[in-house]
Amino acid sequence: MQRYKLKATKKYEQKFLNGYPLIAKESLENINTLKDEGAIIDIIDNKNHFIARAYYGRQNKGYGWVLTQNKKEQIDLNFFKQKIKSAIDYRANFYKSKDTNAFRVFNGEGDGVGGLSIDYFNGYYLITWYSIGIYKFKDTILNALKSLVEFKGIYQKKRFDSKGQYLEDSSDFLLGQEAPEPLIVKENGVNLAIYLDDGAMVGVFLDQKNVRKKIRDKYAKGKDILNTFSYTGAFSVYAALGGAKSTTSVDLAKRSLAKTKEQFEINNLSLKSNKIVVEDVFDYFKYAFKKGLKFDMVIADPPSFARSKKRTFSAKKDYTSLLKDIIKITNKSGVIVASTNAANFNMKTFKSFVEKAFKAESRKYKILESYSLPKDFRVSKNFLEGNYLKVLFIKVD
Ligand code: SAH
Repeated sequence: MQRYKLKATKKYEQKFLNGYPLIAKESLENINTLKDEGAIIDIIDNKNHFIARAYYGRQNKGYGWVLTQNKKEQIDLNFFKQKIKSAIDYRANFYKSKDTNAFRVFNGEGDGVGGLSIDYFNGYYLITWYSIGIYKFKDTILNALKSLVEFKGIYQKKRFDSKGQYLEDSSDFLLGQEAPEPLIVKENGVNLAIYLDDGAMVGVFLDQKNVRKKIRDKYAKGKDILNTFSYTGAFSVYAALGGAKSTTSVDLAKRSLAKTKEQFEINNLSLKSNKIVVEDVFDYFKYAFKKGLKFDMVIADPPSFARSKKRTFSAKKDYTSLLKDIIKITNKSGVIVASTNAANFNMKTFKSFVEKAFKAESRKYKILESYSLPKDFRVSKNFLEGNYLKVLFIKVD
């Protein structure tokens, strides 16, 4: 395969020397000469000295990722073995845990290889490839993983195009045994139904494990809880297990009804006090305003961007107005759990959305706690923007 030698731009030379992992568009001179995805790039400085070794793979984020700053290190089976081994060691407590058997094993650049993630679901591994470039290393990475872990089966998701969209495949199953559908996993002692071969999403977002636990253990008891953008209702299930008086899960996707029912059923929870509503959240708000519905806790974890028939929602543009609606239907002394996985703004900006919304509604608030990614979603100290998750527990005064 082709190898490239490209010069770091002035602005990026020092960044790469300091360990910055992303190949941004403006980071290399003549970046447009890159053609073969998966090719190795040696990054050199002004005097042609080696700085770092990367691979070329196009994602929305950039042109690839630095893999090593060591000139002698080759990108081979041994390289990936070392990376995956240290990732596994870092999650030793997750592997040992009795009440959790679903977690992230390898988190992209946080574990030294951007564009690649590996999740563990009760004996099964799911590899996600975020570019054609990293997919070129498929056989090597698979061999590395196989040599290090015992597994029942291995699955993959291809998220190749520039927006990280999922590439529909005839099957996402790779090798070993096929997983049951659904595969029941445990997280904090809660049963969760996972589908490893049913489109882009498997049913649960593992990065919210600590937030779910907190809602169950500290906030839910005796409360009426609204879960907006509820997907398969994972937050609602935890809330119900924490003794919520009622939960209402709202999502516009039709599939959410059956999937949410299933999550309740596998935890032996009745649907009597747990309502599932298939509707646009913004229409549901109108209904709630009209009926004067109020909740003790409202959870909002919208997609960072979504287009429906009626409207587009962008977290960056629309979160403030979403919060304004939510404030109106939250009881006095109630709690809003505001969450976003949008990578295009940081916690400070997110807090400014909260400030604006409460100001506009002439209400006071207090931030009780905040969360970012859990330990298994390891973040590189040289790429803090990889910590995309922002969650605020806000008390409405
Ligand atoms: N909070 C969920 C994950 C949300 S994923 C969890 O913890 O599992 C985003 C969800 O928002 C998807 O299920 C999608 O169907 C839903 N969604 C997007 N736009 C919506 C809208 N306008 N109204 C209701 N649901 C919406």
